[in-house]
Amino acid sequence: MYDVAASVAGSTGVAYSAFSGWTDRPTDFAPMLEGELTCDIAVVGGGYAGMAAALRLADRGADVVLLESGFCGWGGSSRNAGYLSNALAGDPQLLNTLYPRRLPGLVRYADRAARFTEELIARLAIACDYEPTGNVIAAVSPGQLRRTKRNAEILRGAGADVEFVEGRGFGLPKTFLGGVFERAGGLLNPGKFALGLREALLASDVRVYERTAVRAVDPHASGAVVSTTSGRVHAERVLLATNAYSRDLAIAPRRMVTPVWTSLVETEPVDAERLAATGWTRRVGIITPHTILENYRPTPRGTIMFGTRRLRTAPGALGAREPDDAVVTDLVRGFHERFPSLRDVAPQRAWGGWIAMTPSLLPVAGEATRNVFYAIGCNGHGLAQSPYLGTLLADRLAGDRMHEDLASVWRARPRFAPSVLSTPTLHAAWTIDRISDRFHRRRV
Ligand SMILES: Cc1cc2nc3c(=O)[nH]c(=O)nc-3n(C[C@H](O)[C@H](O)[C@H](O)COP(=O)(O)OP(=O)(O)OC[C@H]3O[C@@H](n4cnc5c(N)ncnc54)[C@H](O)[C@@H]3O)c2cc1C
Repeated sequence: MYDVAASVAGSTGVAYSAFSGWTDRPTDFAPMLEGELTCDIAVVGGGYAGMAAALRLADRGADVVLLESGFCGWGGSSRNAGYLSNALAGDPQLLNTLYPRRLPGLVRYADRAARFTEELIARLAIACDYEPTGNVIAAVSPGQLRRTKRNAEILRGAGADVEFVEGRGFGLPKTFLGGVFERAGGLLNPGKFALGLREALLASDVRVYERTAVRAVDPHASGAVVSTTSGRVHAERVLLATNAYSRDLAIAPRRMVTPVWTSLVETEPVDAERLAATGWTRRVGIITPHTILENYRPTPRGTIMFGTRRLRTAPGALGAREPDDAVVTDLVRGFHERFPSLRDVAPQRAWGGWIAMTPSLLPVAGEATRNVFYAIGCNGHGLAQSPYLGTLLADRLAGDRMHEDLASVWRARPRFAPSVLSTPTLHAAWTIDRISDRFHRRRV
């Protein structure tokens, strides 16, 4: 899965990576599992959720084995856009309509997740270029602006630490009219964060096996057997932290996640004065409230990174993958629309990754079957939430009472409704976004 060319040139002239543009792959792999092992808890998957859970369980005295099919951090955890956010996925108005009673608990969960992850970075002294700037959900049309104003009210009513801001006064680029400023969180290098967690994990008592894909998990009365191609782990309990890849494991609840491929592009360095001339004088991450969001952020290397707009699903197993030319071309078009004065700035590289979308758009945790638990599906918002969710579930497995934040996302039964997400529905959402952009352009 991990053993693919580091970078190839796409027909767009942009260098495509099948991993991440944030960091290099590690060269010091943990061993592959060979033979039989016994432990208290087996964690499957070494992303933020699995690593944070394993570290917490080991801190609490459990004998933990972590099995990772590539290397720890191979998945979305090293690839994401680096927005440490206290937001939930999904439009707040929609969430308020679907989950009016649950919303305050969910908002509290997401807010604490951002603060937890900030503290985790500080406690483990992970150098990941963290800047506590907050983030803005910023409108590009008057209609979106009205919606973000309403959303700010809904979120504040539910207890979120957000405020509505006007674009020009706040230091957003001129094409962004204003929006919801999320004060918590900020921007970081997610690759450095993932590899920093991995370093802490490898230095801990957790027994880590990389290049070790789990093929099956078979529960029994007093535990479960985790099978790989070359070994087996006998554990009292198993924690699935397999995120978008969960669909490949028969033990994972059916329909729990739809894997969705999302892409990022990074430009060449942009002169600070030219950037300021766009109106972007405040260093803050920007996300648009389109049906499928666009995001724009500055990086510490002086570049601009942008992404999403077009998403893809996949029918089969999730292998290594590079961004599609059509998606990169569309993302660059979006960048030109939002930053017309930077049309000559060349996009340099692109990569992507799988995110796990759940039918409810909410993160989920629960018991898949006896002795097998899961903490999955932060719907593209797992940079803050996955380490927190993994840790909350670890505390529960270590014997604590259910934390109120874990309870806010806990599934009593591992049953999930069919997903509406497919490549055609995602394409329809993209088309609606482009029509609304065109409508707005015609009116200005
Ligand atoms: C392009 C992109 C941009 C994003 N931007 C943001 C952002 O700005 N902010 C934000 O909050 N979130 C963002 N996300 C989402 C965020 O990255 C994820 O929510 C988060 O990394 C999920 O962490 P995780 O540990 O649950 O999963 P992952 O990091 O995906 O880890 C799962 C791990 O499990 C391993 N695994 C799976 N199956 C098996 C198996 N059978 N056996 C062994 N190992 C297995 C995989 O190899 C993988 O390493 C983005 C994601 C992508 C792809």
